[in-house]
Amino acid sequence: MLTHSLGFPRMGLARELKTALEGFFAGTVTPHALQGLAAQLRLRHWTAQRDAGIDLVPVGDFSFYDHMLDTAALFGVVPGRYNHAGGPVELDLYCRMARGGQDARGDVTALEMTKWFDTNYHYLVPEFTPEQTFALTGDAILQQAAEARAAGFAAKAVLPGPATFLMLGSCAGQPFDRLALLPKLLPAYCDLLARLAATCPWIELDEPVLGQDLPTGLLLPFRRAYAALAEAAGPARLMLAAPFGSIAHNLAFTQGLPVAALHVDLVRDPTQLALAAKGLAPQTALSLGLVDGRNIWRVDAAAALARIELAASHLGPDRLMIAPSCSLLHCPVDLDAETGLDPEIRSWMAFAVQKCREVRLLADAAAPGGADRPEVAAALAENRAAWESRRKSPRLANPAVRGRVADISVDMFHRPAPYAVRAGQQRAALHLPLLPTTTIGSFPQTPEIRQTRRRFRQGQLDASAYEAFLKTSVADAIARQEALGLDVLVHGEPERNDMVEFFGEMLDGFCFTRNGWVQSYGTRCVKPPVIYGDVSRPGPMTVAMAVYAQSLTPKPVKGMLTGPSTILAWSFVRDDQPREVTRRQIALALRDEVADLEAAGIRAIQIDEPGLREGLPLRRRDWETALALAVDDFRLTAAVARAKTQIHTHMCYADFGDIVPAIAAMDADVISIEASRSRMEPLAAFARDGYPNEIGPGLYDIHSPRLPSVAEMADLLRRAAAVIDPSRLWANPDCGLKTRTWDEVTAALANLVQAARRVRAEL
Ligand code: GLN
Ligand code: ZN
Repeated sequence: MLTHSLGFPRMGLARELKTALEGFFAGTVTPHALQGLAAQLRLRHWTAQRDAGIDLVPVGDFSFYDHMLDTAALFGVVPGRYNHAGGPVELDLYCRMARGGQDARGDVTALEMTKWFDTNYHYLVPEFTPEQTFALTGDAILQQAAEARAAGFAAKAVLPGPATFLMLGSCAGQPFDRLALLPKLLPAYCDLLARLAATCPWIELDEPVLGQDLPTGLLLPFRRAYAALAEAAGPARLMLAAPFGSIAHNLAFTQGLPVAALHVDLVRDPTQLALAAKGLAPQTALSLGLVDGRNIWRVDAAAALARIELAASHLGPDRLMIAPSCSLLHCPVDLDAETGLDPEIRSWMAFAVQKCREVRLLADAAAPGGADRPEVAAALAENRAAWESRRKSPRLANPAVRGRVADISVDMFHRPAPYAVRAGQQRAALHLPLLPTTTIGSFPQTPEIRQTRRRFRQGQLDASAYEAFLKTSVADAIARQEALGLDVLVHGEPERNDMVEFFGEMLDGFCFTRNGWVQSYGTRCVKPPVIYGDVSRPGPMTVAMAVYAQSLTPKPVKGMLTGPSTILAWSFVRDDQPREVTRRQIALALRDEVADLEAAGIRAIQIDEPGLREGLPLRRRDWETALALAVDDFRLTAAVARAKTQIHTHMCYADFGDIVPAIAAMDADVISIEASRSRMEPLAAFARDGYPNEIGPGLYDIHSPRLPSVAEMADLLRRAAAVIDPSRLWANPDCGLKTRTWDEVTAALANLVQAARRVRAEL
């Protein structure tokens, strides 16, 4: 059984690529030095994978920014605004497409960025025109393949397949005929495959769209395309990979295709194994994605071996390959770098390097007589012991939490009064004008704030000095908001580095890695907390700070929490129980915080849920159930509040298409959303679906250093008031202000308050 990897983390163990790229963007690192580092990292990662026992190492998984952008560059898909005359996309143009640019050559926006399936990775959206043409204009992957070969590696070239590349692209935000582009794109792919075949024994095309609902019209073109691609690959063997989802509903796409291998994600859906196996052409191998490429837990070797046995009973052992479920891009590099973790919890984990070893172990153990080899037997015993220790660990189960979950009753999901009644009581309690103004939570994280937090974390500053500093910062934020004339204030979040980590650190059942970085987009990495056990709240988390902030002003100050779906979406979640069970526990812990905030006199509480959409399943028909569960957990968190306590929520995206009914079901009194860049367009969905509660569309694009004028924001508010009853409208920025400077924020918020006053006077 051949072992292979679908991709490895790109950044390097010490995030070397991030540092180099940032230096390159700032002009302190030369293109030559950047390329040199990239080559070093590739070599290091191939070596690590081979040493861990991977037979076919991936080539083409490395990227300076993103693999979809790489594919666009490879096939010459460059939007007109970059004034590209054709030919190869050089690094400079590549960076402009990734990040936009403002210089003598003009002012161009970047490609749009959005989530890669249900991961936390963001890809750049290829932009097509209806007349789009394609040609093989790039050679990065060819060069890397040559590099791997020269270094003596058996390589598998990997890149997004043509269906995924087209289905994930956009055409000026308009519907367009993707299928019509396929015949034009195919020759360019064939061209590439023919050339890759000279250096790579294997070529993998990733088609994660196979896990989604696909247009039936794609079926024949897809099958024809893959027949042509397999032929173009010639002597190289073509693998079709479907990570992240189940292909059980799309078997017609893969059945009998003349490819050398089909890769399926058995972590996501083990039940698709038999179905996928049955539909294979006789010469096609099945690649079993058995090691979770998206989480940090060890594989359960016994369970995985049982799956291999089942697959072998269908296909025989010679037609099987073993791999992680998806690219390891979505997990940290090496557990050996984690020296601060609790040893027991650490023994349950595996990062990218360890996952490659697990793949090897499974292949070795499944080979005839393999499990009897002493080193294999020892590794299997170690795996079993780790799982046993995990299953039996008293740190996992907290009977009190279990009991509380079991005792949840229906009334706990319902506020004490309907919105109409609550709204009246809240208006009276909070003394709000029409079009009340507020912000989303964070204020500028000045270098002083970041540095002080760092010093406190490193033990250079004691708790009381740190608390005094935070209080000064909160008092400053309150004074500034009062001076600006905002109606509902916030404390500014100076104590929070990250909206999930902050809560994770105060909840039981979480732990933190030192170096568990995962690429989010481009140079940005995140270090998700690890949820290993039942979640509970040892004590209040935000109450003291909220109470302090409220003591400084007669205006209402919002308590500020991160919601259960967001905490779940942005963490590595335990895999020994359904995700929903974990989220319910988080919801109960947050519910107690809501109750404590209210009891301490806080009159408005915001529960941020920017992560609500993220975990949604690949197939639309599964959305309803998934959303209903997520909504329930928000309600469980919030519904403990009295009628006159105003519950806010916040989501920073503009794509609300089908989810407005679910958002309405959350029954927050007020939601703030991102809307400035799309000029209030998302409000149409809220108006169409009769969203009943209050809504604050963002008027200020906080991602940009640009200062919006009073007239501009007043205009946006008027547009909003044309679709949403002004008695239910709020005025606020798109998101938190932590990345901006005080100068920018002060000027923008002054304009925002003016704009609200102006439009208020017109109503
Ligand atoms: N309250 C958070 C803040 O203002 C919300 C951040 C977010 O939505 N991403 O920073
Ligand atoms: Zn936001």
